[in-house]
Amino acid sequence: MAQSENRSKWGDNTRLAHCGNDPLEFHGFVNPPIARASTVLFPDAATMASGNQKYLYGTHGTPTSDALTDAIDELEGSTGTIAVPSGLAAITVPLLSFLGSGDHMLVVDSVYFPTRRFCDTMLKRLGVEVTYYDPLIGAGIETLMKPNTKVVFTESPGSNTMEIQDIPAIAAVAHKQDAIVMMDNTWATPLYFRPLDFGVDISIHAATKYPGGHADVLLGLVSANERYWQGLRDGYTALGACGNPDDCYQVLRGLRTMGVRLERHQNTALEIAQKLQGRNGVANVLHPALPDFPGHDLWKRDFKGASGLFSIVLDGGPSRDLQRAKAHAFLDALEIFGLGYSWGGYESLAVQVSLADRTVAKAPEEGPVMRLQIGLEDAADLLDDIDRGLEAAAKIS
Ligand SMILES: *Cc1c(COP(=O)(O)O)cnc(C)c1O
Repeated sequence: MAQSENRSKWGDNTRLAHCGNDPLEFHGFVNPPIARASTVLFPDAATMASGNQKYLYGTHGTPTSDALTDAIDELEGSTGTIAVPSGLAAITVPLLSFLGSGDHMLVVDSVYFPTRRFCDTMLKRLGVEVTYYDPLIGAGIETLMKPNTKVVFTESPGSNTMEIQDIPAIAAVAHKQDAIVMMDNTWATPLYFRPLDFGVDISIHAATKYPGGHADVLLGLVSANERYWQGLRDGYTALGACGNPDDCYQVLRGLRTMGVRLERHQNTALEIAQKLQGRNGVANVLHPALPDFPGHDLWKRDFKGASGLFSIVLDGGPSRDLQRAKAHAFLDALEIFGLGYSWGGYESLAVQVSLADRTVAKAPEEGPVMRLQIGLEDAADLLDDIDRGLEAAAKIS
Protein backbone atom coordinates (compact mmCIF):
# COMPACT_ATOMS: atom_id res chain seq x y z
CA MET A 1 0.00 0.00 0.00
CA ALA A 2 1.48 3.35 -0.98
CA GLN A 3 1.94 5.58 2.07
CA SER A 4 -0.85 8.06 1.60
CA GLU A 5 0.01 11.70 2.05
CA ASN A 6 -3.61 12.18 3.09
CA ARG A 7 -3.00 9.95 6.12
CA SER A 8 -2.87 12.84 8.57
CA LYS A 9 -6.43 13.74 7.57
CA TRP A 10 -7.85 10.25 8.07
CA GLY A 11 -10.73 9.74 10.47
CA ASP A 12 -10.46 7.41 13.45
CA ASN A 13 -11.98 4.35 11.83
CA THR A 14 -9.85 4.63 8.69
CA ARG A 15 -6.79 4.97 10.90
CA LEU A 16 -7.79 1.97 13.02
CA ALA A 17 -8.20 -0.17 9.89
CA HIS A 18 -4.73 0.68 8.54
CA CYS A 19 -2.42 1.59 11.43
CA GLY A 20 0.37 -0.67 12.67
CA ASN A 21 1.73 -3.26 10.25
CA ASP A 22 2.19 -2.82 6.50
CA PRO A 23 0.77 -5.95 4.77
CA LEU A 24 3.26 -5.67 1.88
CA GLU A 25 6.13 -6.21 4.30
CA PHE A 26 4.91 -9.81 4.74
CA HIS A 27 3.76 -11.16 1.38
CA GLY A 28 0.57 -9.07 1.40
CA PHE A 29 -1.11 -10.95 4.22
CA VAL A 30 -3.51 -8.46 5.78
CA ASN A 31 -2.60 -9.39 9.35
CA PRO A 32 0.98 -9.54 10.66
CA PRO A 33 2.56 -12.88 11.58
CA ILE A 34 3.10 -13.54 15.28
CA ALA A 35 6.83 -13.59 16.00
CA ARG A 36 7.24 -15.73 19.12
CA ALA A 37 10.76 -15.16 20.24
CA SER A 38 13.42 -15.25 22.86
CA THR A 39 16.48 -15.70 20.61
CA VAL A 40 17.12 -13.58 17.54
CA LEU A 41 20.03 -14.72 15.35
CA PHE A 42 22.78 -12.49 13.95
CA PRO A 43 24.31 -13.17 10.53
CA ASP A 44 27.94 -12.90 11.74
CA ALA A 45 30.13 -12.10 14.73
CA ALA A 46 30.68 -8.48 13.76
CA THR A 47 26.93 -7.75 13.68
CA MET A 48 26.50 -9.58 16.97
CA ALA A 49 29.28 -7.55 18.60
CA SER A 50 27.99 -4.22 17.32
CA GLY A 51 24.31 -5.01 17.97
CA ASN A 52 23.68 -3.22 14.72
CA GLN A 53 20.42 -4.87 13.67
CA LYS A 54 16.79 -4.06 14.30
CA TYR A 55 15.92 -6.90 16.71
CA LEU A 56 18.31 -8.24 19.33
CA TYR A 57 16.32 -10.30 21.81
CA GLY A 58 12.66 -11.03 22.54
CA THR A 59 12.41 -8.86 25.66
CA HIS A 60 13.35 -5.73 23.68
CA GLY A 61 10.46 -6.03 21.23
CA THR A 62 9.42 -8.07 18.21
CA PRO A 63 7.81 -7.26 14.85
CA THR A 64 4.47 -8.17 16.48
CA SER A 65 4.86 -5.80 19.44
CA ASP A 66 6.12 -3.12 17.02
CA ALA A 67 3.01 -3.48 14.86
CA LEU A 68 0.91 -2.72 17.93
CA THR A 69 3.06 0.03 19.42
CA ASP A 70 3.40 1.78 16.03
CA ALA A 71 -0.40 1.72 15.76
CA ILE A 72 -0.73 3.22 19.24
CA ASP A 73 1.86 5.94 18.48
CA GLU A 74 -0.25 6.98 15.52
CA LEU A 75 -3.42 7.10 17.65
CA GLU A 76 -1.80 8.83 20.67
CA GLY A 77 0.51 11.17 18.80
CA SER A 78 3.35 9.80 20.93
CA THR A 79 7.06 9.38 20.19
CA GLY A 80 7.19 5.83 21.51
CA THR A 81 5.03 3.18 23.18
CA ILE A 82 5.86 0.09 25.23
CA ALA A 83 3.65 -2.99 25.62
CA VAL A 84 3.68 -4.56 29.09
CA PRO A 85 1.91 -7.67 30.49
CA SER A 86 -1.10 -5.95 32.13
CA GLY A 87 -2.78 -2.60 32.63
CA LEU A 88 -1.39 -2.53 36.15
CA ALA A 89 2.15 -3.01 34.79
CA ALA A 90 1.44 -0.02 32.51
CA ILE A 91 1.17 2.00 35.74
CA THR A 92 4.01 0.46 37.75
CA VAL A 93 6.62 0.43 34.96
CA PRO A 94 6.57 4.20 34.27
CA LEU A 95 6.44 4.99 38.01
CA LEU A 96 9.49 2.78 38.64
CA SER A 97 11.20 4.25 35.58
CA PHE A 98 11.09 7.82 36.84
CA LEU A 99 10.76 7.83 40.66
CA GLY A 100 13.50 7.32 43.23
CA SER A 101 14.17 7.64 46.92
CA GLY A 102 13.47 11.15 48.22
CA ASP A 103 10.99 12.02 45.46
CA HIS A 104 7.45 13.19 46.13
CA MET A 105 4.47 12.25 43.98
CA LEU A 106 0.93 13.61 43.76
CA VAL A 107 -1.78 11.03 43.01
CA VAL A 108 -5.46 11.72 42.38
CA ASP A 109 -7.61 10.36 45.23
CA SER A 110 -10.11 8.75 42.81
CA VAL A 111 -7.34 6.57 41.38
CA TYR A 112 -7.76 2.92 40.33
CA PHE A 113 -7.28 1.08 43.64
CA PRO A 114 -4.31 -1.13 42.62
CA THR A 115 -2.39 2.05 41.72
CA ARG A 116 -2.89 3.27 45.28
CA ARG A 117 -1.85 -0.11 46.68
CA PHE A 118 1.38 0.04 44.66
CA CYS A 119 2.10 3.59 45.87
CA ASP A 120 1.34 2.82 49.51
CA THR A 121 3.42 -0.37 49.64
CA MET A 122 6.25 -0.70 47.15
CA LEU A 123 6.86 2.96 46.36
CA LYS A 124 6.70 3.87 50.04
CA ARG A 125 9.23 1.16 50.80
CA LEU A 126 11.50 2.57 48.10
CA GLY A 127 11.39 5.97 49.80
CA VAL A 128 8.86 7.80 47.63
CA GLU A 129 6.46 10.11 49.47
CA VAL A 130 2.88 10.13 48.11
CA THR A 131 0.14 12.74 48.62
CA TYR A 132 -3.42 12.13 47.40
CA TYR A 133 -5.29 15.13 45.99
CA ASP A 134 -8.91 16.08 45.28
CA PRO A 135 -9.85 15.11 41.69
CA LEU A 136 -11.56 18.51 41.30
CA ILE A 137 -8.50 20.50 42.43
CA GLY A 138 -7.52 21.86 38.97
CA ALA A 139 -4.92 24.66 39.10
CA GLY A 140 -5.23 24.59 42.91
CA ILE A 141 -2.78 21.69 42.82
CA GLU A 142 -0.09 24.39 43.01
CA THR A 143 -0.53 24.48 46.81
CA LEU A 144 0.43 20.78 47.04
CA MET A 145 3.54 20.93 44.86
CA LYS A 146 6.81 20.48 46.75
CA PRO A 147 10.29 21.22 45.45
CA ASN A 148 10.83 17.44 45.11
CA THR A 149 7.50 16.65 43.39
CA LYS A 150 8.64 14.53 40.47
CA VAL A 151 5.41 12.99 39.17
CA VAL A 152 1.80 14.18 39.08
CA PHE A 153 -0.42 11.16 38.46
CA THR A 154 -3.89 11.73 37.00
CA GLU A 155 -6.81 9.53 36.01
CA SER A 156 -9.88 11.03 34.38
CA PRO A 157 -12.68 10.19 34.79
CA GLY A 158 -11.91 8.97 38.30
CA SER A 159 -12.32 5.26 39.01
CA ASN A 160 -15.91 4.39 39.96
CA THR A 161 -17.02 7.95 40.81
CA MET A 162 -16.16 9.45 37.38
CA GLU A 163 -14.80 12.87 38.43
CA ILE A 164 -13.36 14.78 35.45
CA GLN A 165 -9.99 16.41 36.08
CA ASP A 166 -8.83 19.69 34.56
CA ILE A 167 -5.82 18.08 32.90
CA PRO A 168 -4.47 21.19 31.05
CA ALA A 169 -4.57 23.26 34.28
CA ILE A 170 -2.81 20.53 36.27
CA ALA A 171 -0.19 19.97 33.57
CA ALA A 172 0.58 23.70 33.40
CA VAL A 173 1.30 23.81 37.14
CA ALA A 174 3.36 20.59 37.11
CA HIS A 175 5.49 21.76 34.20
CA LYS A 176 6.47 24.98 35.96
CA GLN A 177 8.89 22.85 37.96
CA ASP A 178 9.46 20.08 35.43
CA ALA A 179 7.33 17.44 37.14
CA ILE A 180 6.23 14.59 34.86
CA VAL A 181 2.48 14.36 34.22
CA MET A 182 1.17 10.81 33.83
CA MET A 183 -2.42 9.90 33.02
CA ASP A 184 -4.34 6.65 33.19
CA ASN A 185 -6.54 7.17 30.12
CA THR A 186 -8.09 3.70 30.01
CA TRP A 187 -11.71 4.93 30.08
CA ALA A 188 -11.56 7.23 27.06
CA THR A 189 -9.03 5.38 24.86
CA PRO A 190 -7.05 7.60 22.45
CA LEU A 191 -10.20 7.91 20.33
CA TYR A 192 -12.07 9.98 22.92
CA PHE A 193 -9.13 11.74 24.62
CA ARG A 194 -5.55 12.25 23.50
CA PRO A 195 -3.62 13.04 26.69
CA LEU A 196 -0.42 14.28 25.02
CA ASP A 197 -2.41 17.02 23.24
CA PHE A 198 -3.47 18.32 26.67
CA GLY A 199 -0.06 18.53 28.32
CA VAL A 200 0.31 14.97 29.62
CA ASP A 201 3.81 13.52 29.19
CA ILE A 202 3.05 9.83 29.65
CA SER A 203 -0.26 8.22 28.67
CA ILE A 204 -1.27 4.89 30.18
CA HIS A 205 -3.81 2.34 28.96
CA ALA A 206 -5.10 -0.97 30.20
CA ALA A 207 -5.38 -2.47 26.69
CA THR A 208 -7.18 -5.29 28.51
CA LYS A 209 -10.30 -3.09 28.29
CA TYR A 210 -11.55 -1.57 25.01
CA PRO A 211 -8.53 -2.30 22.78
CA GLY A 212 -8.73 -6.03 23.67
CA GLY A 213 -12.50 -5.80 23.85
CA HIS A 214 -13.33 -9.47 24.46
CA ALA A 215 -12.43 -10.23 28.10
CA ASP A 216 -9.78 -12.71 26.94
CA VAL A 217 -6.47 -10.87 27.10
CA LEU A 218 -4.38 -8.83 29.57
CA LEU A 219 -2.05 -6.13 28.22
CA GLY A 220 -0.88 -2.63 29.09
CA LEU A 221 0.39 0.19 26.89
CA VAL A 222 2.46 3.22 27.90
CA SER A 223 3.10 6.06 25.45
CA ALA A 224 5.56 8.90 25.98
CA ASN A 225 6.23 12.25 24.37
CA GLU A 226 9.64 12.99 22.90
CA ARG A 227 11.08 14.30 26.15
CA TYR A 228 10.37 11.18 28.23
CA TRP A 229 10.48 8.39 25.65
CA GLN A 230 14.13 7.45 26.28
CA GLY A 231 13.62 7.32 30.05
CA LEU A 232 10.54 5.16 29.67
CA ARG A 233 12.28 2.77 27.30
CA ASP A 234 15.28 2.52 29.65
CA GLY A 235 12.98 1.63 32.57
CA TYR A 236 11.16 -0.96 30.46
CA THR A 237 14.45 -2.54 29.36
CA ALA A 238 15.74 -2.60 32.94
CA LEU A 239 12.58 -4.21 34.32
CA GLY A 240 12.06 -6.85 31.61
CA ALA A 241 8.28 -6.48 31.78
CA CYS A 242 7.53 -7.16 28.12
CA GLY A 243 4.09 -7.92 26.74
CA ASN A 244 4.00 -11.25 24.92
CA PRO A 245 3.56 -11.41 21.12
CA ASP A 246 0.31 -13.41 21.16
CA ASP A 247 -1.31 -10.82 23.44
CA CYS A 248 0.03 -7.96 21.29
CA TYR A 249 -1.52 -9.65 18.25
CA GLN A 250 -4.87 -10.04 20.04
CA VAL A 251 -4.91 -6.36 20.99
CA LEU A 252 -3.96 -5.21 17.48
CA ARG A 253 -6.85 -7.37 16.20
CA GLY A 254 -9.15 -5.75 18.75
CA LEU A 255 -8.09 -2.25 17.68
CA ARG A 256 -9.48 -2.79 14.18
CA THR A 257 -13.04 -2.81 15.53
CA MET A 258 -12.54 -0.53 18.55
CA GLY A 259 -14.08 2.50 16.86
CA VAL A 260 -17.37 0.82 15.99
CA ARG A 261 -17.53 -1.00 19.31
CA LEU A 262 -16.91 2.20 21.27
CA GLU A 263 -19.61 4.05 19.38
CA ARG A 264 -22.08 1.31 20.31
CA HIS A 265 -20.89 1.21 23.95
CA GLN A 266 -21.23 5.00 24.09
CA ASN A 267 -24.74 5.14 22.66
CA THR A 268 -26.17 2.31 24.74
CA ALA A 269 -24.54 3.52 27.96
CA LEU A 270 -25.77 7.06 27.48
CA GLU A 271 -29.30 5.93 26.67
CA ILE A 272 -29.37 3.79 29.82
CA ALA A 273 -27.80 6.53 31.96
CA GLN A 274 -30.43 9.04 30.78
CA LYS A 275 -33.29 6.64 31.45
CA LEU A 276 -31.99 5.83 34.93
CA GLN A 277 -31.93 9.48 35.99
CA GLY A 278 -34.85 10.01 38.36
CA ARG A 279 -35.84 6.30 38.18
CA ASN A 280 -37.35 4.94 41.41
CA GLY A 281 -34.58 3.60 43.59
CA VAL A 282 -31.78 5.50 41.80
CA ALA A 283 -30.37 8.37 43.88
CA ASN A 284 -27.81 9.55 41.33
CA VAL A 285 -26.26 8.66 37.97
CA LEU A 286 -22.52 9.31 37.66
CA HIS A 287 -21.90 9.76 33.93
CA PRO A 288 -19.81 12.67 32.55
CA ALA A 289 -21.94 13.09 29.41
CA LEU A 290 -25.05 13.95 31.48
CA PRO A 291 -25.46 17.76 31.52
CA ASP A 292 -26.02 17.96 35.29
CA PHE A 293 -22.98 15.83 36.18
CA PRO A 294 -20.55 18.17 38.02
CA GLY A 295 -17.62 17.55 35.61
CA HIS A 296 -19.74 17.76 32.48
CA ASP A 297 -18.36 21.10 31.22
CA LEU A 298 -14.75 19.92 31.45
CA TRP A 299 -15.68 16.64 29.77
CA LYS A 300 -17.36 18.53 26.95
CA ARG A 301 -14.39 20.87 26.57
CA ASP A 302 -11.75 18.12 26.38
CA PHE A 303 -13.25 14.74 25.41
CA LYS A 304 -14.58 13.59 22.04
CA GLY A 305 -16.84 10.92 23.48
CA ALA A 306 -17.84 8.77 26.44
CA SER A 307 -17.26 5.05 26.68
CA GLY A 308 -19.53 2.43 28.22
CA LEU A 309 -18.59 2.53 31.90
CA PHE A 310 -20.45 4.59 34.49
CA SER A 311 -21.90 4.25 37.98
CA ILE A 312 -25.25 4.65 39.67
CA VAL A 313 -25.93 5.39 43.31
CA LEU A 314 -28.86 3.41 44.67
CA ASP A 315 -31.22 4.79 47.31
CA GLY A 316 -30.14 3.27 50.59
CA GLY A 317 -29.03 5.82 53.14
CA PRO A 318 -25.70 5.94 54.98
CA SER A 319 -25.93 2.60 56.85
CA ARG A 320 -23.23 0.26 55.47
CA ASP A 321 -25.26 -2.84 56.31
CA LEU A 322 -28.38 -1.64 54.51
CA GLN A 323 -26.24 -0.48 51.56
CA ARG A 324 -24.67 -3.92 51.28
CA ALA A 325 -28.02 -5.73 51.51
CA LYS A 326 -29.56 -3.53 48.81
CA ALA A 327 -26.49 -3.84 46.58
CA HIS A 328 -26.48 -7.63 46.88
CA ALA A 329 -30.23 -7.84 46.14
CA PHE A 330 -29.67 -5.66 43.04
CA LEU A 331 -26.78 -7.80 41.80
CA ASP A 332 -28.40 -11.16 42.51
CA ALA A 333 -31.53 -10.20 40.52
CA LEU A 334 -29.55 -9.48 37.34
CA GLU A 335 -29.82 -12.06 34.55
CA ILE A 336 -27.79 -10.48 31.74
CA PHE A 337 -25.18 -8.42 33.58
CA GLY A 338 -22.39 -10.66 34.87
CA LEU A 339 -20.85 -10.10 38.31
CA GLY A 340 -17.18 -9.60 37.64
CA TYR A 341 -14.24 -7.23 37.53
CA SER A 342 -12.70 -5.49 34.57
CA TRP A 343 -14.65 -3.95 31.68
CA GLY A 344 -14.37 -2.97 28.02
CA GLY A 345 -15.51 -6.37 26.75
CA TYR A 346 -18.61 -7.17 24.68
CA GLU A 347 -20.60 -8.34 27.72
CA SER A 348 -22.22 -6.23 30.43
CA LEU A 349 -20.95 -6.38 34.01
CA ALA A 350 -22.02 -4.97 37.37
CA VAL A 351 -20.20 -4.64 40.67
CA GLN A 352 -20.70 -2.81 43.97
CA VAL A 353 -17.63 -0.63 44.35
CA SER A 354 -15.80 -0.02 47.59
CA LEU A 355 -14.74 3.56 48.19
CA ALA A 356 -13.26 2.82 51.62
CA ASP A 357 -9.76 3.72 50.37
CA ARG A 358 -10.65 7.35 49.66
CA THR A 359 -9.06 10.08 51.78
CA VAL A 360 -10.42 13.21 50.02
CA ALA A 361 -13.06 12.25 47.44
CA LYS A 362 -15.40 10.50 49.89
CA ALA A 363 -18.16 8.01 49.02
CA PRO A 364 -21.66 9.43 48.41
CA GLU A 365 -23.96 9.26 51.45
CA GLU A 366 -27.15 8.44 49.54
CA GLY A 367 -26.50 4.73 49.09
CA PRO A 368 -24.33 2.04 47.52
CA VAL A 369 -22.39 2.82 44.34
CA MET A 370 -22.88 0.28 41.56
CA ARG A 371 -20.52 0.35 38.58
CA LEU A 372 -22.05 -0.72 35.29
CA GLN A 373 -20.04 -1.80 32.25
CA ILE A 374 -22.44 -1.56 29.35
CA GLY A 375 -21.65 -4.19 26.72
CA LEU A 376 -22.83 -4.67 23.16
CA GLU A 377 -26.22 -6.20 24.04
CA ASP A 378 -29.52 -4.48 23.20
CA ALA A 379 -30.29 -1.47 25.38
CA ALA A 380 -33.90 -2.51 26.04
CA ASP A 381 -32.80 -5.88 27.45
CA LEU A 382 -30.18 -4.25 29.66
CA LEU A 383 -32.72 -1.74 30.98
CA ASP A 384 -35.16 -4.55 31.79
CA ASP A 385 -32.35 -6.30 33.64
CA ILE A 386 -31.49 -3.18 35.65
CA ASP A 387 -35.18 -2.75 36.49
CA ARG A 388 -35.19 -6.31 37.88
CA GLY A 389 -32.26 -5.29 40.08
CA LEU A 390 -33.92 -2.05 41.22
CA GLU A 391 -37.14 -3.86 42.14
CA ALA A 392 -35.21 -6.39 44.19
CA ALA A 393 -33.25 -3.64 45.97
CA ALA A 394 -36.47 -1.72 46.72
CA LYS A 395 -37.82 -4.73 48.64
CA ILE A 396 -34.93 -4.56 51.14
CA SER A 397 -35.46 -2.24 54.08
C1 LIG B 1 -8.44 -2.36 34.63
C2 LIG B 1 -7.69 -1.12 34.84
C3 LIG B 1 -6.31 -1.13 34.97
C4 LIG B 1 -5.51 -2.42 35.04
O1 LIG B 1 -5.63 -3.24 33.94
P1 LIG B 1 -5.32 -4.80 34.07
O2 LIG B 1 -4.96 -5.20 32.68
O3 LIG B 1 -6.57 -5.44 34.58
O4 LIG B 1 -4.16 -4.95 35.02
C5 LIG B 1 -5.67 0.07 35.11
N1 LIG B 1 -6.34 1.23 35.14
C6 LIG B 1 -7.66 1.27 35.02
C7 LIG B 1 -8.35 2.60 35.05
C8 LIG B 1 -8.39 0.11 34.89
O5 LIG B 1 -9.72 0.15 34.80
